[in-house]
Amino acid sequence: MHFVKVICLFFASVWLTATGATQVQSIGIAGDGEFTRITITSENAIRPDIFLRETVDGMVIEMVPDVFQLSAQPFYSEPTGGIYAYTLDTDRIVFELDRPMMVMREIDLPPSGSEQLYRFILDLSGVSEARFRNAARRDESRFARFEAARAASPETPDLIETADVAPRTRPEAPSSKPASIGALMQMAARQRRVIVIDPGHGGRDPGALAIIGGKESEIVLKTSLKLKQMIEQDPRYIVKLTRETDVYVEHEDRVTMARNWGADLFISIHADAAGAPTVSGASVYTISTRGEARIEGTAKKFGWELPIEDGTSVEVSNILQDLTLRETKSNSSIFAEFLVPELGKAGPLVRNSHRQGNLFVLLAPDVPAVLVEIGFLTNRNDARRLKSERGRRKSAEAIKRAIDAYFDRQDLILATN
Ligand SMILES: [Zn+2]
Repeated sequence: MHFVKVICLFFASVWLTATGATQVQSIGIAGDGEFTRITITSENAIRPDIFLRETVDGMVIEMVPDVFQLSAQPFYSEPTGGIYAYTLDTDRIVFELDRPMMVMREIDLPPSGSEQLYRFILDLSGVSEARFRNAARRDESRFARFEAARAASPETPDLIETADVAPRTRPEAPSSKPASIGALMQMAARQRRVIVIDPGHGGRDPGALAIIGGKESEIVLKTSLKLKQMIEQDPRYIVKLTRETDVYVEHEDRVTMARNWGADLFISIHADAAGAPTVSGASVYTISTRGEARIEGTAKKFGWELPIEDGTSVEVSNILQDLTLRETKSNSSIFAEFLVPELGKAGPLVRNSHRQGNLFVLLAPDVPAVLVEIGFLTNRNDARRLKSERGRRKSAEAIKRAIDAYFDRQDLILATN
């Protein structure tokens, strides 16, 4: 059974209008409980504090925006994807869960392009009950402190009567600076990241041929296996390869595998060929605008669309798709920008080493992806480097350093939110 409870809506509009609160225009929920996304659009950034809690109503996610007011005719999506119901209270939204889920990330997007509203996105992921309970326990004292501070604030007079009760029923809060959503996100971030390495070509498709002998399909497989070995030694990651032997794998299967594995990052590894033997160096490709135009059709054809519940409005699904695409593209570029200088330490780079291409393996709508050309097999020095144990190790180390830098950056963003 699914329902939306709207409580004290009028009251909220009346007193919050005076404080110049932001108007929430829509609340969208999509997903299947394994992965569920909540999207809130508003006129200004809502910057909510978020708590996992176990209450008399069961497991809930409580979201308390800075200031909060609903527009005259907000759009509410039906509860779905592990959310059994949600309550719009005077100053917060409480999502009641019918299965344990945790916050995996939150994204704050300012208006851009044709989108005139701010969007706050909360991605949830299904977890075990024990894990939820752990997280809820950790949130307890933070929640008590938060409520106490809020009750003491003159802007929320309606909460004063509970101010004396909540904090004292909890153990003394630690004296360090108050935990924020960052604490929760750091915990979520501690989840192991899934890296998918895609050695190009294979089997009946050898790829380019090296000037000193050898096939691209073999050379990039060896580099990929080396990289896999390095990533495996780091407990922060889970690493998967789209092929580990000399077999042919269809392009769409490579992307489908990455999506099924829940890839956080997809790295396709190739080696280049050029007419002129003097051309050398590595380069990194991300999806081009032209390639981007193919994403929707390709995703439809191969079933790579986001899990969106039946009954979700076309508008909301379009917003979801759009946001995901934009985020994926920007993350791909960020990773490429980390990768290029690292590859530069392992060998030469071509000019304009971060390029954009209309490449099939980069078409997943929701997995940040790059294609690396680790050098030119038609260049004698590059070919030697790529075929040598030392060169292989240096390329793999460069990619590993970029992976670390990319996820360190993500953790930092999550922690300082
Ligand atoms: Zn290739």
